[in-house]
Amino acid sequence: MSTETLEFQAEARQLLQLMVHSIYSNKDIFLRELISNASDALDKRRLAGLRDDRLGAEDLRIDVEVDNEARTLTVRDNGIGMSRDDVVGLIGTIARSGTAETLRRLRESKESAELIGQFGVGFYSVFMVADNVVLSTRKAGEETGVRWESDGGGTYTIETAEDVPEGTSVTLHLRPADEEDALHDYADERRIRELVKRYSDFISFPITLGDETLNSMKALWARQRSEVKDEEYREFYRRISHDWTDPLEIIQMRAEGTFEYEALLFLPSRAPHDLYQRDARHGIQLYVKRVFILDDSRELLPDHLRFVKGVVDAADLSLNISREMLQQDRHIQLIRRRLAKKVLSTVKDLMRNDVEKYRTFWREFGPAVKEGLLDGAEDHKAILDIASFASTAGDEPVGLADYVARMKDGQDKIYYMTGESRAQVENSPHMEAFRAKGYEVLLLTDPVDEIWVEAVHDYDGKEFQSIASGEVDLPSEEDPSPEKSGRYASLLAWLNETLDEVQDVRLTTRLTDSPACLVSAAEAITPALEKLYRAMGQ
Ligand code: ADP
Ligand code: MG
Repeated sequence: MSTETLEFQAEARQLLQLMVHSIYSNKDIFLRELISNASDALDKRRLAGLRDDRLGAEDLRIDVEVDNEARTLTVRDNGIGMSRDDVVGLIGTIARSGTAETLRRLRESKESAELIGQFGVGFYSVFMVADNVVLSTRKAGEETGVRWESDGGGTYTIETAEDVPEGTSVTLHLRPADEEDALHDYADERRIRELVKRYSDFISFPITLGDETLNSMKALWARQRSEVKDEEYREFYRRISHDWTDPLEIIQMRAEGTFEYEALLFLPSRAPHDLYQRDARHGIQLYVKRVFILDDSRELLPDHLRFVKGVVDAADLSLNISREMLQQDRHIQLIRRRLAKKVLSTVKDLMRNDVEKYRTFWREFGPAVKEGLLDGAEDHKAILDIASFASTAGDEPVGLADYVARMKDGQDKIYYMTGESRAQVENSPHMEAFRAKGYEVLLLTDPVDEIWVEAVHDYDGKEFQSIASGEVDLPSEEDPSPEKSGRYASLLAWLNETLDEVQDVRLTTRLTDSPACLVSAAEAITPALEKLYRAMGQ
């Protein structure tokens, strides 16, 4: 049978280069990645078997073999396997969106270790520890198998192979051991055993080495919080999120009764690079009674909480449920409401009890969460409750409840100004009278702020009021004295006549330092919103 030599796709080659030169200090992760792929393949096989008898398999498992003499390590699964096209498409290229951009940042950045965690290097991480890798695989239901081999350089070989069992095996020819660091030798069974236990204990299929099963296979979300070590949660989080940084907060939920489900959710400690991209992945995996059904499940949380990662295991859904069916399912809608509420209330707790964490959360995800103020009024109150904004009152962001609590006597509105940056807004002439009279003004500088302030009327009965709008009335604002009005009447008339672009020119006591300022008519859009619309091509 002929052997073909093919080139890795350009981006894949770059990533391989990074792996071969091992920019990542924790090489242990390669094993986790292999086991994680094997587990995914087993999930897919189990599901395929449920839907089509011919694809079923008994005894789904992951076997690990170490040959100390030959210095090889093999991870084998009897999962879904790959066809030849799958191998070329999945292993020879990186299909994930944003790859080019991430690689550029990886090369330029010193924090590559962390970035790479966000990116999830996956299969290629094997080239950190191996100088040659052979992958043999046969797709469930297909006749022939495929053998793939590479040294992590620019090319790989691929050929059809007989006698390959269904599933996939990956054999690493390990690099020479580091004399000084014998403990970290991956050709050592003890070491492998320890790594599997540490990183992959919760994998729901048995992982065996010889006749020993190494993992406990307990689904993490089904265990009591107090029984699970933080490290186990962190590992699980890494597996489902591809984020190497530890999660900020863990949320566990369980509903019993007519509709049962368990959920284990994580708030990440920082925003993924694609948070604002349309095709960004959502982070929730759906299980039905421990069987993985699908990931990237958009139906289980509203869009503005798309950064939340985790697992929902529902007891009463059909294993055959499809994405399309999920959108219609009443139970799913119910779960979605509950999860959203729980996430928001968890953040509210952080705001009260762990300000540091809350600030991190809001800095990373606030702009996304605020998108929730634009659609249906469902969670407006809960979102406003956890929002905080820069303010003229100091350097710390303030929440709306705090703002309201310290409003001046006679003040009945929440004053804000939108703009592009804090400096720009603070230096605006509109600010003068408010500063002079000691009114606190919120400084809204996220693009989304322009839009939600139009959509949301009030907080706690206090109306939002832009200080750049013509309508704004300071409670203590005086009208100009008749004497002053008289003195300036002819100037105003002349200005009104001469300046075509403005609707009206008025005398005001609102300014203290600036000679003049532009205000929008009450019903007009703000200058920043105008800009935003223009940028969107409207
Ligand atoms: P990821 O797992 O994040 O998709 P990887 O680089 O780890 O990225 O793997 C790339 C793809 O190769 C996987 O999505 C999967 O389709 C395929 N793959 C890898 N390992 C296996 C395996 N053991 N069995 C079947 N498919 C696999
Ligand atoms: Mg993977």
